[in-house]
Amino acid sequence: MSICIDLHLHTNRYSPCSSIEPEQMVRQAANIGLDAAVITEHHHQWSEEELAALVEEAGEPNFLLMTGFEYCSAQGDFLIYGLTEGAAFGFEPGLAPESVVEQVHWLGGACIAAHPTRAGMSFDERIASMRLDGIEVQSINLKEHEQRLAMGLASNLNIPASAGSDAHQLQHVGAYATVFEEPIQSMADFVAALRGGRFRPVDGAAARLRGRKAVGDSR
Ligand SMILES: [Zn+2]
Ligand SMILES: [Zn+2]
Repeated sequence: MSICIDLHLHTNRYSPCSSIEPEQMVRQAANIGLDAAVITEHHHQWSEEELAALVEEAGEPNFLLMTGFEYCSAQGDFLIYGLTEGAAFGFEPGLAPESVVEQVHWLGGACIAAHPTRAGMSFDERIASMRLDGIEVQSINLKEHEQRLAMGLASNLNIPASAGSDAHQLQHVGAYATVFEEPIQSMADFVAALRGGRFRPVDGAAARLRGRKAVGDSR
């Protein structure tokens, strides 16, 4: 069983920089064969009620839609998953990066460094001592050489690599994704797999997913 999840998506409901209508995002994610998607708006976590309403409205009631948020620290951005709504909104922007990871873990969540090698938005040397659950090595917002640098960083630090589209436009949904080799049916399953390092990036996710869908869903 391989579960493909896009870990990093923005919609226009809470990320003004995104042009993606939430309903279209869900339909697109399901259509291209993603097994799940995680909305990661900037400093905003969707409520469970909103997620449930959205999959209904999109006509994909069985699609696994989850949410975390993208957090801007004093140095570098994080993808944060598995916090309660209250805890998520309690995170003031701009905290020291190392304390972000500690607090997320203390609250039972998981934390991935987003686009760690993106020009002008990278981390400093503190990234080496943070107990990150993953390092995003591929997204629409990492150029090819930045992806290579990120892969080098992940392997040097011995931190698992992940991938997500960071889509802000509909056609980028699922452009990159992460694969899990265990059933993921809830945020709890997802966070446990992240904390356990049991995942890897899918290269060229969108193309592969389309191929998989075309030959019939073999899950
Ligand atoms: Zn954005
Ligand atoms: Zn993003």
